[in-house]
Amino acid sequence: MSNDILILAEHLNGKLADITFEMVGKAKQLAAAFGGKAVAVLLGSRAKALAESIGAEAVLYVDDPALAEFNPEAYRLVLAALIKERNPRLMMMGNTSMGMDLGAGLSVTTGLPLIAYVNGLAADGGTLVATSQIYGGKIQAEAVPDGEACIVACLAGAFPAEVGKGSAPVEQIASPAPLGDLKVKFVKLIQPQGGDVDITQQPILVSIGRGIGGQENIALAQEVADALGCAVSASRPLTDAGWLPKTRQVGKSGLTVKPKVYLALGISGAPEHLEGMRGAETIIAVNTDPKAPIFDVAHYGATCDMLDLLPALTEKVKG
Ligand SMILES: Cc1cc2nc3c(=O)[nH]c(=O)nc-3n(C[C@H](O)[C@H](O)[C@H](O)COP(=O)(O)OP(=O)(O)OC[C@H]3O[C@@H](n4cnc5c(N)ncnc54)[C@H](O)[C@@H]3O)c2cc1C
Repeated sequence: MSNDILILAEHLNGKLADITFEMVGKAKQLAAAFGGKAVAVLLGSRAKALAESIGAEAVLYVDDPALAEFNPEAYRLVLAALIKERNPRLMMMGNTSMGMDLGAGLSVTTGLPLIAYVNGLAADGGTLVATSQIYGGKIQAEAVPDGEACIVACLAGAFPAEVGKGSAPVEQIASPAPLGDLKVKFVKLIQPQGGDVDITQQPILVSIGRGIGGQENIALAQEVADALGCAVSASRPLTDAGWLPKTRQVGKSGLTVKPKVYLALGISGAPEHLEGMRGAETIIAVNTDPKAPIFDVAHYGATCDMLDLLPALTEKVKG
């Protein structure tokens, strides 16, 4: 086994996802502790320029037309072959839609243990210790892999991103696994519906969850947002119910936002929600339950009824 750490670079529409840079930063720390290198792996087609922009210590770019778009089967075959060939200490991927589609299958194919929902990684005297969020983020579990090598799926926003720290030369290789006979075919990418406010560009978000109680109360949040000159975003149950458009949803199956201020009102802080907002500069949480996991990521918090708070806040902001 080598002491290298492989990081799966995640990309879509010609852009690297933030999680890639977050994992690279952490991988460099771990690689230094284990005495190996942080090696980013980018799978794609005609994507060398993208590979060149990853700030890892080494970059491996696997070029194949079958990798032009994300395909869990193709990714699994390529990564399994790379793991067999290079025998890394650790394979890191995002605990994202892509990573969730890939991690378990890769674990079965390679026989390596998979630790998912990871928000902490440390090299403790040569042993890898992963902290994993379980029970919807209510409990943090420390896990040590059975055997030295393993796969970890890291939550978005768990580690600071390491952007613009230069990059190593890219080693371009052909796919180490045959990809001519895939059972999973990429058909098309369905882009999110447009035409609404772009919540990813808002400096402040008034974000509401199931604690809002009913659709009729959304106007209260909108009044605060209007007074602040920003937009209302939401957790998934509200967009699932059709109370707000899907374009307002923050989280794993919604959008990732990084506003200066994220006001989380009546949102419990499930991992799927945190994935989309934990990178916000300042998080202010309001929740009647003092044990709600949102308080683990909040910089400021209040345990009061959001329905009492909203009208008072509008009044205060309007001055
Ligand atoms: C594959 C997958 C993808 C998912 N993607 C997403 C996603 O993109 N985004 C997302 O948000 N979720 C997503 N989810 C759902 C996620 O797991 C949670 O169910 C969801 O985030 C919970 O939303 P919530 O916090 O609004 O509701 P709840 O978990 O029901 O929490 C409501 C909170 O409001 C508090 N509360 C109640 N009344 C009040 C009040 N009057 N004042 C103040 N606080 C109050 C309660 O204490 C509670 O903490 C996904 C789930 C899966 C399985």
